[in-house]
Amino acid sequence: MNMSVKIFTVLCAFMLASQLSCSQNSDPFFALRNRMVKTQIEARGISDEKVLNAFRKVERHKFVLPQYIPYAYADSPLPIDEGQTISQPYIVAFMTDALDLKRTDKVLEIGTGSGYQAAILAELCDSVFTIEIFEKLANKSRQVFNDLEYKNIWSKTGDGYKGWPEHAPFDAIIVTCAPTNVPEPLTEQLAEGGRMIIPVGDDPVQELVLLKKRKGKLREESVLPVRFVPMIDPEGRKY
Ligand code: SAH
Repeated sequence: MNMSVKIFTVLCAFMLASQLSCSQNSDPFFALRNRMVKTQIEARGISDEKVLNAFRKVERHKFVLPQYIPYAYADSPLPIDEGQTISQPYIVAFMTDALDLKRTDKVLEIGTGSGYQAAILAELCDSVFTIEIFEKLANKSRQVFNDLEYKNIWSKTGDGYKGWPEHAPFDAIIVTCAPTNVPEPLTEQLAEGGRMIIPVGDDPVQELVLLKKRKGKLREESVLPVRFVPMIDPEGRKY
């Protein structure tokens, strides 16, 4: 090895080491987040590195209520405002993985809640459109998206049952509140070749259903029993 190659190698090693220690120092939750990925997500069979990296990167503690920050990386859902919940990390990962996202995909999310799922999606695809029925939650999550400088998330307050026709079709649709049947406007707004993941059924336990649109037809399979908050209309009635 000649001298300039040696200097270059040492310089690279130094830069890498300082970058690593910098990301660890500036984020006290770095180790907890990596542990969450390893023990809750990877250990349960999710292996797509792109998905795992999104979970290593997005700071879940920025999306939870202040009193729950110590539990931000625990293996459970947590309460957010308006009696709603941020889903368990593994469920967020399972649903994200099931959508098989490509970098160029446009995704619709129904039920913004804390905004955590939307941020994970924004790491993996081109654009995320997300709808939340409670104004307080929509405003709060928008603030977090701004603070974290996401430029590819568009959010609005409204009834997600109707989807967002102005931006359809979507390559993927993810629904994080449970209706008793799959909303027709959503299947209509799914692109050819598109995938939708949605919890369906009556309170308190539903089935997570994966739908795929091929040649205009929908194929449907149940993939996991789950427990989600209900999808509600603007009067608060369950769909
Ligand atoms: N994806 C969220 C999970 C939030 S829980 C997260 O990562 O935190 C589901 C959310 O769906 C709740 O915030 C609830 O208010 C919202 N919701 C219920 N019915 C809705 C509807 N018709 N349209 C849009 N959002 C709805």
